[in-house]
Amino acid sequence: MNYLQAWTNSLQCSDCHKPLHIASSDTVSCSGCGRKFEHEENIWNMLPSRIAHQEGKDREQEGWTQKTEKDKKAGWEPPPEHYLSLPDHPHPYYQSALWYLKIVLECGKPWTDKRVLELGAAECWGTRHFAEAGAEAAALDYDPERMKKGRILLDHLPVRFARFRGDAESLPFRDGSLDRIFCCSVLHHFFDLPKAVKEISRTLRPGGIFFGIHEAFHPPYYTKEQILNMSEDNLPNISEGIHEDSYPLHFYRKVFCKAGMTFELIHPRWDVSEKEGKLKVSPGHVLYNNPDYIPEMFGNRIHRQDIPGKIARLILGTGIWRLAAHPAVFPLIRFQLLNWTLRDKIIVARKPG
Ligand SMILES: [Zn+2]
Repeated sequence: MNYLQAWTNSLQCSDCHKPLHIASSDTVSCSGCGRKFEHEENIWNMLPSRIAHQEGKDREQEGWTQKTEKDKKAGWEPPPEHYLSLPDHPHPYYQSALWYLKIVLECGKPWTDKRVLELGAAECWGTRHFAEAGAEAAALDYDPERMKKGRILLDHLPVRFARFRGDAESLPFRDGSLDRIFCCSVLHHFFDLPKAVKEISRTLRPGGIFFGIHEAFHPPYYTKEQILNMSEDNLPNISEGIHEDSYPLHFYRKVFCKAGMTFELIHPRWDVSEKEGKLKVSPGHVLYNNPDYIPEMFGNRIHRQDIPGKIARLILGTGIWRLAAHPAVFPLIRFQLLNWTLRDKIIVARKPG
């Protein structure tokens, strides 16, 4: 099944931007320029005829393929169970993703019948969870090879979602046709981030929400070398031709605001509490509501006998830090704390309306 039917009203031609209609079970045609779009293994090729930065994007796709081949040679060829359990996998990257996804699912409620796009979907695990939450979900990626693994989810689980090969800088969706867009570790791979974010903003309906987890951020004072060494994957990926970038948080904010969206952040610990399996997510929530909360920067030093330890105990004793945690003050310093450190954060950008 290619599940295209549910998406035809949201699609547009990636060349002339006119609506598409189903011509046969294997073809959709453009009502403007007449171009025909086809699928391969149920992945619809919606790439524009002219692709910006095509050489780099093709090189990156080749890089991911080579990486997969190398993993295979090293004996790592995951069984279907691997894809079926994602993002629940022991690796810390996936364990964080599991927690972040839970937060996104809470923040983006309700999901029933919402049109949700996983942009840069790779193996489509995010798409699967949105479909399970009740959404009409779709996956889009430049690289169709990794998206083919999405087949495992469709074959083994009672879910449906569409898969598209496409370009983030020219999305094949009509203006305001999407309710939610989700990215996991994707924005920092884009060749033209401002253009891709403009497309995110264009395709979201008023009131629509973008979620970004596992993006690459660096504090504004970082040197080039520090940025390159931030993640152990960075240098090997770059040598494979994979486009890796990173930006300070204020740059992401600028790009989203310029595209007409509001920009906020969720800190996965400060802002989220879990009680009897239910999540509560709001900025600063944990700090305001937990009188026993001790900021990490003091908690880590409290038992030390050196000067930083003494200072931490002194500050904690006065309770002065609580002033900074006050709801009237904290939001002001919160963004800067997140901007100038490497702390985890989830991007939540909304289209006003
Ligand atoms: Zn067309």
